[in-house]
Amino acid sequence: MASTYDVVVLGAGPAGVATALSLRSFSDCSILIADAGEQKRERAGESAPPDLLAPLRRLQLEANFLAAGHMHSPGSAVLWGREQVGYNDHLLNPMGPSWRLNRPVFDAMLVEAALEREISVQWNTRYLRAKANEAGFLLTLAERSGPEKEVQARWVVDATGPLARFATDLGVKKRTDDQLFGLAGFSIVHAGQIKKQVLVESTPEGWWYAAYLPDHRLIHMFVTDAPQLRQLKAAGAAGWAALLSHTQLLSPALADVQLAQPEFHTFPIYSSLLEQAYGEHWLAVGDATATYDPIASQGLYKALSDGVTAGRVLAAALQGQRKELEQYDRGVKERYARYFDQRCGLYGQERRWAGAEFWRNRQVAGPL
Ligand SMILES: Cc1cc2nc3c(=O)[nH]c(=O)nc-3n(C[C@H](O)[C@H](O)[C@H](O)COP(=O)(O)OP(=O)(O)OC[C@H]3O[C@@H](n4cnc5c(N)ncnc54)[C@H](O)[C@@H]3O)c2cc1C
Repeated sequence: MASTYDVVVLGAGPAGVATALSLRSFSDCSILIADAGEQKRERAGESAPPDLLAPLRRLQLEANFLAAGHMHSPGSAVLWGREQVGYNDHLLNPMGPSWRLNRPVFDAMLVEAALEREISVQWNTRYLRAKANEAGFLLTLAERSGPEKEVQARWVVDATGPLARFATDLGVKKRTDDQLFGLAGFSIVHAGQIKKQVLVESTPEGWWYAAYLPDHRLIHMFVTDAPQLRQLKAAGAAGWAALLSHTQLLSPALADVQLAQPEFHTFPIYSSLLEQAYGEHWLAVGDATATYDPIASQGLYKALSDGVTAGRVLAAALQGQRKELEQYDRGVKERYARYFDQRCGLYGQERRWAGAEFWRNRQVAGPL
């Protein structure tokens, strides 16, 4: 690791890598991406709208994406707010089909492009703290089980996901409007036919999501509040199977499918907004600025498209032109306000269990 960079991007999720790639298309400045985790890991998120192709085109990755074997998604079957299943058919969408991503392949595509374009990427390298100085920021990073290192950056990009580690260290507040948890089971499909649609079903305690993945795997996830999550975890695999067996859409759809024992992961799910997406020598991008509930299926598109914009804004800022930063911040806030409005409307549609705590918590007027 060199010790001085023009730009250090903290976080190698889709937003961080897209920002670095976009910046590279405007500037040959030195860029380091540092991520606290392993490169290979289970990342949440695989459903994406047809619009995903637009930022990929801007990053010159459309052809790579189309050749990578991601699945077209025929749409979704949804049991929510009424007793009949509703179908949202994407096949006739004029923007093209929506996508079911093979996440490891998608993530590897982004990182390989970064390496090819002479962007340094360091895994297992956690941002610990920052000190502002005349040249930007002196960052302290720690490699796993290695010594701490200091790295000087002219500009820092906070792409550390929902907790916005860097921006919140600087004292910028992240307002949390709601927090849920997703308990996701990833299983290999041994035998049987699974519908290619995404399945979504609300229940009194939360909602279910199931999707067949391109590499013969299935993700099924239950999204709920913290107390129910604790109960569910305490009940183990048998508790999970019992809860699933009460569903009206998922349970019959999975009845004839032979699945390996799921590997479970817990994901916090936020609706949250950073009060300021930029400051002196830094900007934030992706979930670090605005985190959306996965019911919106917009997180990946938002990560890439905001990354494209952030790279352009950053290139201008490196040249001393800062006027686009404010516009960038305004755009993030406007999009979040629209998202949160739509989300409130969606949760408000489910009136069948108005007395159940999960729905009561989501149906209060305004943020929790
Ligand atoms: C359960 C769940 C399901 C979802 N499903 C979908 C879906 O189907 N479709 C969709 O579009 N979106 C979905 N989303 C949302 C989507 O995953 C996110 O919006 C997207 O990953 C945001 O990308 P990001 O790069 O901003 O953040 P992240 O992907 O969270 O990446 C942040 C990176 O920062 C790193 N990091 C954190 N702290 C530090 C530190 N201190 N130092 C260095 N690195 C650090 C992390 O290791 C991570 O790699 C889902 C989200 C959840 C939680």
